[in-house]
Amino acid sequence: MSADNKNTTPTAASQPSNFLRTIIESDLGKGTYQRAGMPSVITRFPPEPNGYLHIGHAKSICLNFGLAEDYKGRCHLRFDDTNPTKEDQEFVDTIKDSVQWLGFSWEQGGVPYLHFASDYFDTLYEMACGLIEAGHAYVDSQSPEEMAKNRGTFNQPGVESPYRNRPPAESLDLFQRMKAGEFPDGAHVLRAKIDMASPNMNMRDPVIYRIRHASHHRTGDKWNIYPMYDYTHPISDALEKITHSICTLEFQDHRPFYDWILERLTEKTTLPDGREVGGFLEKPLPHQYEFARLNLTYTITSKRKLLQLVEEKRVNGWDDPRMPTIVGIRRRGYTPEAIRLFCERIGVAKADGWIDISTLEGSLRDDLDPKAPRAAAVLHPLKLIIDNYPEGQVETCTAPVHPHYPERGERQFNFSREIWIEQDDFMVEPVKGYRRLYPGNRVRLRCAYIVECTGFDRDAAGNVIAVHANYLPDSRSGTETSQNYKVRGTIHWVSTSDAVPAEVRLYDRLFAEAMPDANGRDFRDALNPDSLQVVDAYLEPGLAKAAPGDIFQFERQGYFVADLVDSQPGKPVFNRAVTLRDSWVKDQKKK
Ligand code: ATP
Ligand code: MG
Repeated sequence: MSADNKNTTPTAASQPSNFLRTIIESDLGKGTYQRAGMPSVITRFPPEPNGYLHIGHAKSICLNFGLAEDYKGRCHLRFDDTNPTKEDQEFVDTIKDSVQWLGFSWEQGGVPYLHFASDYFDTLYEMACGLIEAGHAYVDSQSPEEMAKNRGTFNQPGVESPYRNRPPAESLDLFQRMKAGEFPDGAHVLRAKIDMASPNMNMRDPVIYRIRHASHHRTGDKWNIYPMYDYTHPISDALEKITHSICTLEFQDHRPFYDWILERLTEKTTLPDGREVGGFLEKPLPHQYEFARLNLTYTITSKRKLLQLVEEKRVNGWDDPRMPTIVGIRRRGYTPEAIRLFCERIGVAKADGWIDISTLEGSLRDDLDPKAPRAAAVLHPLKLIIDNYPEGQVETCTAPVHPHYPERGERQFNFSREIWIEQDDFMVEPVKGYRRLYPGNRVRLRCAYIVECTGFDRDAAGNVIAVHANYLPDSRSGTETSQNYKVRGTIHWVSTSDAVPAEVRLYDRLFAEAMPDANGRDFRDALNPDSLQVVDAYLEPGLAKAAPGDIFQFERQGYFVADLVDSQPGKPVFNRAVTLRDSWVKDQKKK
């Protein structure tokens, strides 16, 4: 299940074009980022370590690392850890693990391009001092309420702070004392001096530093002030010599500030006392581009809302197989190749839209179909007793591991007088068109004999508890005489003599509504009450040895993975990754 995965991994040649590729190719043509000893394409994936990555992040990872791979550049993994109170080492570890699991690496030529914005805190501080001296930033001492009020609205310009024109020396002194911890949280902020009348709210003297007496997961108690994301991000990009800084659409209105701050830090200013400040950065500067974030139907892709599901115990943790987190879909049975295939198929758009979850499920089916070994599993067992088969006798049956790849060998399992079949494969009174077992009808037991149903047993409550049949001894699959019979139905089965009991978790979509959080609705009201059904099943004997993470196609059922957490050899637990066909819409209508 692992060896022949490579053929679905996207390659440059097979990649369809998109607007980002067009931009990169144009920059390559113009030599925009030609620098000695550096690749001409350097991207980055910049998560905040405040939660687990989800399928939306996977899109960003595939895009950033994928473009770097295709254009022989490199992609940095950078933790945007400027928000001390929400971040944690646990999240750093799982994010690194998820990126690697998807098959990407931030290492190149033995150098790990693994960065933390917090590593730049000293530099960011120094640059902020330079901005103050050059007259591009000032300490504002308005209260947070005053600041909010004076920011204006979309239709109304903001009001300049009375502190806006305080002398740079005074701002610098205050800023140094903010750093030293002299003031409580909220007493002052450092703001960029741009334009309080700008139609773009992000340009109305944005805050670039705030006082935060908080411990940081990497810098401890060293800092009492922390830089804002909008200030930190472009500078981190520039320091790492990122060429194409790709982010989601909601940052489009932040781009003017991204460019403004980098320009201010590049230029040099001569102060009245003759000193020169600035020149912190060099051209060519990174450029920001925006793409549409992934919205997936029947899913939510907001870390905050996912956290709520975990905290309120509506799912069993971040790696619950119903969660759209990378750790969740991995446990569900998704492969890295399936996710990369999905990202390739959905492409990159400039306008927001929704991707149907069937595209994700289809990518998994397409990835697994050629890979997954086949197996028989009876999920809702009903006993079939073959009355004319000798008691105590067993025969060995065989079936191919994969019907299209005979070279992968055969599986073996017993046939005996008592076997398990699916409850669905028997009806006392058949509905129109039903081709499986009912009194008087014949079916083929896959890879074994044809049987004819002779009756059934009921318990006191009237439930069918066993079905009786006779087998046709000369109908065994693969024999010449088997050709003498024509039956219209084939069913799967496992023998009571060697079947392995197993817990099987039938997962379905976590939400019953396509857009769980549309129109401000509480997404928790859209949870699918039937998203998990646990059944006691019987599996063919070979599955007793399944190692956690092994994936099989259960014939007629779907793709199932041995659970990474709970499955043990001899005591397997299987998760349904996806059904064989997309029957969601049809099934919903039946309900
Ligand atoms: P959330 O809104 O769920 O908290 P985020 O954007 O705040 O997500 P970050 O850790 O900042 O989370 O995200 C890291 C990168 O992943 C960013 O560049 C962000 O644009 C990208 N990203 C996040 N969600 C999606 C999504 N749904 N589709 C595509 N890219 C995404
Ligand atoms: Mg973010």
